Amino acid sequence: MDKWQRAAPPSPPNPLCYPSPRMSRTNLLDLLPDELEALAESLGAPRYRGRQLAGWIHAKGVTDLASMSDLPRDFRQALSERAEIALPALERATPSQDGSEKLVLRLTDGGRIQSVLMPDEDRLTLCLSTQVGCGYGCTFCFTGTMGLGRDLTAGEIVGQVAAARARLAPGARITHIVYMGMGEPLANYAATAKSLRILTDPRAFGFSPRRITVSTVGLVAGIERLAREGFRVNLAISLHATTNEVRDRLMPVNRGVKLEALLAACKRFPLPTRQRMTFEYVLLDGVNDSPDDARRLVKLLRGMRAKVNLIPFNEWEGAGFRRPPLARILGFQAIVLEHGITATVRWSKGEDIGAACGQLKEPVRSRASRGQLDERVAC
Ligand code: SF4
Repeated sequence: MDKWQRAAPPSPPNPLCYPSPRMSRTNLLDLLPDELEALAESLGAPRYRGRQLAGWIHAKGVTDLASMSDLPRDFRQALSERAEIALPALERATPSQDGSEKLVLRLTDGGRIQSVLMPDEDRLTLCLSTQVGCGYGCTFCFTGTMGLGRDLTAGEIVGQVAAARARLAPGARITHIVYMGMGEPLANYAATAKSLRILTDPRAFGFSPRRITVSTVGLVAGIERLAREGFRVNLAISLHATTNEVRDRLMPVNRGVKLEALLAACKRFPLPTRQRMTFEYVLLDGVNDSPDDARRLVKLLRGMRAKVNLIPFNEWEGAGFRRPPLARILGFQAIVLEHGITATVRWSKGEDIGAACGQLKEPVRSRASRGQLDERVAC
């Protein structure tokens, strides 16, 4: 057991956090502190009751209204009739030999998503999902075979942080957040943006934007909107190829937005000071791993504050790709490093539990399937 893990097994789900038949009630996790204040006011209470509520829910992680001892009983009663704290229910937590832990979470409509806790020295990173499944169909990605179930709400995104935090030992805390789980965050822009606001609001979760990374397949409109709306988070671009021809084959999204347009948007993105943009590059044997690819990659990133994460392909049954031999992986890295660009080989965490990039697999109950469990794949 790692020092960040709670010794006790997962506690039984709080009835308030479980799928509720009263689906029309507001999920308080969906609300910013200002909106909690407005809600308190609409219930006839002073606005500061909303701030107290934010303190309980976001800062202290309390999900039971009855435990919020400094809130008047009649306010809590009125609140429970209008709202709930609908945390995704922890269905399963699977530890990996490398210390990471995959959490399978069930949503109120029965849909399942996955989050992964990844300890690394003094960091504890949580990888979040933003959609049930993913509609982008990248050919090397297990999730790509799944299709899109639905978008998550902002409350379901931040709910993953709350659910993961409940697993931690006293004193342990999540230090970094990456939007790299199931789904394409910028394809669910409104909920992703709102979840970023909730997570970075000092009156709510209070994460520094510098400790949050949003990963995208390269949706230029979304990247530009993030910049325009002033989000100073880190950006990770799933690049995976150095020519349009190869990228078209690997990532159907490239048929609409070419590499040149994507990189131009990246160059315009206002990165936080001293931060570099991350370019994710999955290495596929004989497809995108040649020395020429490495040199083209260097050329594409010239003039940018960039770093490269090289991800040796995590093989899955039925995939039409293989992981390159170690020598080719290290040779690729060496060429990029020689040109002054930081390049790290990411041996994915959680490979033994199917939690590595592109590997998560979970049966998901879709809205349409009504009671049947579809075997679906998640990333
Ligand atoms: S790599 Fe990302 S965008 Fe592509 S299919 Fe997988 S989850 Fe979707």
